[in-house]
This record gives sequence, structure tokens and C-alpha cells, in this order.
Amino acid sequence: MIPAQFQYAAPASIPDALALLKSNPEAKILSGGQSLIPLMKFRLAQPAMVVDINGIGGLDYIREEGGWLKIGALTRESQLEDSALVREKYPLLYDTTLSVADPIVRNRATLAGNLAHADPANDHPATMLAYRAQVVATGAAGNRTIAVDAFFTGLFSTALASDEILTEVQIPAPVARSGGAYLKMERKVGDFATAGVAVQLNLDASGKIEQIGIGMTNLGLQALRAKRSEDALRGEMPETKWIKRAAVFAQEDCEPNADLRGGVDYKRNLVRVLTMRALEKAIARAKG
Ligand SMILES: Cc1cc2nc3c(=O)[nH]c(=O)nc-3n(C[C@H](O)[C@H](O)[C@H](O)COP(=O)(O)OP(=O)(O)OC[C@H]3O[C@@H](n4cnc5c(N)ncnc54)[C@H](O)[C@@H]3O)c2cc1C
Repeated sequence: MIPAQFQYAAPASIPDALALLKSNPEAKILSGGQSLIPLMKFRLAQPAMVVDINGIGGLDYIREEGGWLKIGALTRESQLEDSALVREKYPLLYDTTLSVADPIVRNRATLAGNLAHADPANDHPATMLAYRAQVVATGAAGNRTIAVDAFFTGLFSTALASDEILTEVQIPAPVARSGGAYLKMERKVGDFATAGVAVQLNLDASGKIEQIGIGMTNLGLQALRAKRSEDALRGEMPETKWIKRAAVFAQEDCEPNADLRGGVDYKRNLVRVLTMRALEKAIARAKG
């Protein structure tokens, strides 16, 4: 289908983009366009104006600074995929990027757009929960930092105001003996997740699980934190009995809907298995 009529603006700076957003509350930001354009074509979104931020320089970077991995808003999935830093030090992010759609989509899609879109089926939100990441929102009054737990507020909704731009994603740099993994079940390559589980953890000097984050994809109206599973593992040795128990908690605590990808019981079972396997993979990586 052809999108409804809209005005198009291509500001060259963040202040110009913010001014456009301020004076056009019904405007939508365009980054990679991999979610927005299909929605507009189906007329599920009919923004009065599209503010294309692709002409703003200096927003496509991946760098470590002050204990964080900082990723600029216009960094494409393919840049994450090609980054040796991401591949070597952030395996959870690397796994997740590789599982998003296909290479054609990843050439345009951005991590920031993936988060701002807040589709419960998108892969990165669960990963950001596992990492305990944060995002930088830039508005007329300056920057504010939003912890990822406060960022997702519901189905396709976030804590971003309509006149704010998500300008940077910040992921904590890994401490010693860290490991992470993202596992996703999809019906075919390029599909959204039937279910996905993201795990990030580290072991203390005695081998016990010290910090742990577990996020779940497409198992509720927004990405979910498997809090009971995290609590069950923190402070324990990474042994099978604890892993199994945590996986059962994730199975019980997720909130799947029956759809074309499967029924509720199937998805719950899937979550249990994915959680176990993601934990085992993350632990193996943490042990080096
Ligand atoms: C064929 C296909 C398969 C796909 N499969 C997957 C998949 O397996 N996993 C997955 O996670 N995703 C998948 N997607 C969805 C897509 O990859 C993501 O939603 C995409 O990464 C969104 O990023 P974008 O840069 O393209 O955002 P856009 O489409 O440009 O924008 C998406 C939304 O976010 C807002 N937005 C964008 N950037 C910003 C910003 N910087 N600040 C504030 N708001 C912003 C826009 O206004 C819009 O509402 C698929 C898409 C397609 C077309």
C-alpha cells in the first residue's frame, strides 16, 4: 500500500530536529525506517510529518567511555555486527544483533530505533534489560538518562516524550568473569521471535553468580525481566539444579499470548528450555 500523505523534513542538526518535533507533536522520527515505513505503508501509522534524522552527523559511533559501551542513535545493526569490540567483549549484544531480521534489514535498522519502537517482538529490548543498560534522551532542555527498566512502559510505548530523540544507548562495560547469550526461537530465518531469552551474568572469585540479568522477548506486552529467576540464581554456584529452578520460574512468570507462532503452553515450555540453554551458554562464556 501507499502511505497516507505526510510532510517530510530532513534537519541537519539535533537542535533543528528538536524544533521540528516541538512544533509538530504528531511528527515521527525516521531512522532506519525498518519499522516505521512498513507501518506507514499499511496505514497503521499516519504521521503528519516525518523527521528524517539520517542527515545529522556524528550519531553513528560505537565506543567505550567511562565504564560504558556507548552506541550512537544512527549506528546500524550491520555496524554492530562488524564491530570487533562488540563481537569480543559484548557477546550478548552480538548474538542479538545477528538474530535481528536479515542482512538487508540490518544494513538500515538502528539499535536506537529498535528500542524506541518498543515492539515486544523486537530482540534488543530483552537484551538491554539483561545488560541493565540505559538510554540518553535529548530534548530542548538537554539530555536525560533513562534506565532501561523505566524506559519500556507498555505495548509500543516508552518513557520518551514526543519532542525527545533517543540519541545514545549505554551498556555497562563487562566486569571480570562476565558472560552473556541471546537465544531466540524463530519459525524461519528473518522472522520475529516466537520467544527469546537474553542472559548477562558474572561470577565472583569463588565461582558464584554475582550479578545477573535475564530478559524475555515476545512473552508479554513488553519485554519482560525474569526477576524471580535472577533472584534464584544470584549468590548461587552455577549448578544444574539452580539453573533448572530459574528456568521454571521464567516459564511461570512469562505472559505469552497464543498466536500464529504457537499456543501458550508451547511458548511457556520454550521459555524454560531457552532460559536453561542461555544460562548454560552465558556461564560457559563467563568461565572463558
Ligand atoms: C522484514 C523485517 C524483519 C524484521 N525482523 C526483526 C527481528 O527479527 N527482530 C527485531 O528486533 N526487529 C525486526 N524487525 C524490526 C526492525 O528491525 C526494528 O524495529 C528496527 O530495528 C527499528 O529501527 P529503525 O532504525 O529502522 O527505526 P525506524 O523504523 O526508523 O523507527 C521505528 C520507531 O522508532 C522511532 N524512532 C526511531 N529512531 C528514534 C530515535 N533515535 N529517537 C526516538 N524515536 C526514534 C520512530 O519514530 C518509529 O516510531 C524487522 C523488520 C523488517 C522490515
